[in-house]
Amino acid sequence: MRIVLLNPPVPKGRFTNRDLMGGMGIDDDFGVGLGPRFVALLKNEGTRLPVIALAYAAGILASHDVTVLDQSRLDPHDPAALDAVVRARPEWVIAATSFAFLGAELRYLERVREATGAKRMLLHQGATFFADDILKRGLAEAISAGDPEVIVQHLAKGSLAPGLDGVRMADDTGRPVLAVNGFIADLDTLPFPAWEQFMPEGYGYFPLLKQKPFATMLSSRGCPYLCHFCPYPIAQGAPFRPRRPERVADEMEMLASRHGVRAVLFRDPTFSLDIGRVKALARALIERRVPLQFGIETRLDRMDDELIELLGRAGCRSAEFGVDPIDEHTRLASHRRGIKPERAAALIRTMESNGIATAGLFVIGTPGQSDDEMHRTLDWIETLDVSYMNYEVATPFPGTALYTEAVQKGWTRPITLDDLLDGDPKLAFNGVIDLARMKELQDRALSRFYLRPRKVAREVLNRDFFENVRFMTRSGIKFLRGERKA
Ligand code: SF4
Repeated sequence: MRIVLLNPPVPKGRFTNRDLMGGMGIDDDFGVGLGPRFVALLKNEGTRLPVIALAYAAGILASHDVTVLDQSRLDPHDPAALDAVVRARPEWVIAATSFAFLGAELRYLERVREATGAKRMLLHQGATFFADDILKRGLAEAISAGDPEVIVQHLAKGSLAPGLDGVRMADDTGRPVLAVNGFIADLDTLPFPAWEQFMPEGYGYFPLLKQKPFATMLSSRGCPYLCHFCPYPIAQGAPFRPRRPERVADEMEMLASRHGVRAVLFRDPTFSLDIGRVKALARALIERRVPLQFGIETRLDRMDDELIELLGRAGCRSAEFGVDPIDEHTRLASHRRGIKPERAAALIRTMESNGIATAGLFVIGTPGQSDDEMHRTLDWIETLDVSYMNYEVATPFPGTALYTEAVQKGWTRPITLDDLLDGDPKLAFNGVIDLARMKELQDRALSRFYLRPRKVAREVLNRDFFENVRFMTRSGIKFLRGERKA
């Protein structure tokens, strides 16, 4: 079977990493001020992730005739984009989707269908949420629900049919059959992602991981914490599904030896949920001398000093985590437990002193936050030794508990497929804090964090200062030429 694995184009001047936010993708919009817009530009220029579900699909479909097309930097109306798909003469197109650009993706895939006759399979959570409507309107022939590999395995084996767990398709009468999500219990039964046709040199994660070629990995899936704004438990389920440390180390060795990969970003929602497992992995990497740097995303309350020391020795160079609001009642309103501020500050210092750059994420405008508390939390963040901070405005992604609450309380209206087909979804909501105020706080927090004398001095003294300046200059020139929206 001839199959195209597609990371679809994105409207001119926009960008999304479709793997982020549990497969919802991100359309980075940090605010309206010049500083925040430039930060957004740097992030979009530096953060370019492959879609790992497509690389897993390439591994599963190894016995088929597969063409990988990453068109995420092309405009849907660029004739070169559609021509490339037509040349591959696919019978199926398996497309990664996002929430932010689902409308544009569906429109592009309609043109693909007209030009090639190929059937369309959609991966990721945004498409799953709207599966009923998408199938009724004939905008796709199959949609994944749960782990994308489940539906891809059925295609590979020729067993794809409506009603199977993990598969959303229309039956013979055209009626959508919305089967339950399908999850792979033992992730080590999957073949390694096949990166041969991807462009490892084209991806990167600047400034946290500077080495290239770069690839991503999943050493576990699922998150039992169920923070109510978070799409990961919706996409991957709540049960934690870890892989064995030896298999993870094997995959890292394979990436280094077969593809020359020098940096890996683990996309696990909570990498160190099982601290013992990650210590075993770190010891294996140290023992085998795997020549890779890597980054992780985790929770601060799933770290300890010994783990940090082992991770630093094993090659971990970055750790990203959520920074909780200072007040406990706000944390509880988001179903987050958090850790004491002084413990968080100590862990961050330990990571930095072990060569692990820290990057915090703070969500502005989650229910329960007051203006006063927000300011106290933002002030506290500026006392931390954290290298980078990301401030995101709370977004009620469809399927999350926050979305349900926001709709029930009238903070946002329900999003429909027509909203997406008509253009940008209007997801940001006016909840406890008004949207304009949230954006203002985001602008101010970013400017304050990055323009503090202490932060500026730290950047100047950074041994990568000149490399950072070169990158910022290149991006700045693009910004001034108007090549990218910021
Ligand atoms: S701990 Fe992190 S990944 Fe897990 S639900 Fe909360 S925000 Fe999401």
